[in-house]
Amino acid sequence: LQCVLEMGKPIKQAIAEVEKCELLCNYYLDNAASMMAPLHLASDARESFVAYEPLGVILGVMPWNFPYWQVFRFAIPAIIAGNCVVVKHASNVAGCAQLIEELFTEAGFPKGVYQNLLISGDQVKAIIEHPAIKGVSVTGSEKAGASVASVAASHIKKAVLELGGSNAFIVCADADLEKAIPVAVKARMQNTGQSCIAAKRFLVHRSLHDDFVMRYKDAVLKLKCGDPMDETTDIGPLARVDLAEQIEKQVNESVKMGAKIITGGRRNDAFYEPTILTGVTTDMPVFKEEIFGPVAAVLPFDNFEEAVKLSNGTEFGLGVQIFTEDIEGVKSKVHLFEEGAVFINAMVKSDPALPFGGVKKSGFGRELAENGLKEFVNVKTVYIK
Ligand code: NAP
Repeated sequence: LQCVLEMGKPIKQAIAEVEKCELLCNYYLDNAASMMAPLHLASDARESFVAYEPLGVILGVMPWNFPYWQVFRFAIPAIIAGNCVVVKHASNVAGCAQLIEELFTEAGFPKGVYQNLLISGDQVKAIIEHPAIKGVSVTGSEKAGASVASVAASHIKKAVLELGGSNAFIVCADADLEKAIPVAVKARMQNTGQSCIAAKRFLVHRSLHDDFVMRYKDAVLKLKCGDPMDETTDIGPLARVDLAEQIEKQVNESVKMGAKIITGGRRNDAFYEPTILTGVTTDMPVFKEEIFGPVAAVLPFDNFEEAVKLSNGTEFGLGVQIFTEDIEGVKSKVHLFEEGAVFINAMVKSDPALPFGGVKKSGFGRELAENGLKEFVNVKTVYIK
């Protein structure tokens, strides 16, 4: 309920987010002990092994878009690896931040293992500089990531950066549109489009382009927009009015440059209509920049090589989803994508069992799975002659 009130997430999606946090806890409950066990390695020593030890106190700087999930996916593995955490959550979800701290207390964690910091972004520098802090994990914008990582680097402290994205959704000539369309709707419109891994640019083979646009429009028009407290609502308001204004600016600028609005395109206070744009070119804001709201930019392509080039044609590298009937053929081309994740015939999503993170300006380091568990550990080599 708190995140519905603070950032307008439709309530059924808020419940799903909480359930996903439970999934993550259960995943580490089942797997962390074996992942953290010492690893024996053969060498010229009588015995040699690697021990994984905690670093100390880790700072998390977190965003508002998935106010519970983002914090859980940082804090649970960091704590299970033996660290303590302090969390600076986004200012517009201070209530969620407080609730999470209370949850850790209620669950019986010793005092101070999880601590909420009610501070502003400009106070983060002093926290990183504190000798007790041994590392920092940021999920947020490129600007916040660059600022935090440079302070951390100047004090030789480790940073993990989970930043923005502009994932492509590639529809190959042989794709099954019946299967692709519902995924295209969810991949762009979930959380009212406010997701780093949302599909933002739809690259559709020219032979399917018009059919795709028509069916996509029909499906998008079925989404129910309105009160996030209503259990049947699919699309709520953006988290803040300024965020809706930013989307309005990016869309209007793109339309001025020649993009065509197929549906949507209007703002009402913090609400922005689910929108589809065609005639998008690579120099438009809706292609070049991250659009953090319910706006899909559609472009045609003529061959796979061109699709790869378009997909790679932003400064981000979080993930890509590709729809095709030729799974083996596309599998052999996965290496061409400058991304942290390639999903075939499914939408890019995070899964506790799979590493999550980006390349290029989407950041570095990984969360989730064994990789995430071991981001903030000392990998200690032990050699016995
Ligand atoms: P944001 O403005 O960067 O804020 C994220 C967090 O950083 C907030 O806690 C914010 O605090 C803090 N912050 C902002 N500027 C800072 C600075 N200079 N120094 C230290 N801390 C600073 O991002 P947002 O608008 O909340 O989130 C949207 C962005 O996050 C999008 O780009 C999205 O793609 C990205 N994101 C990435 C992932 C991923 O896993 N890769 C996941 C979710 C979101 P205040 O709220 O107090 O300003």
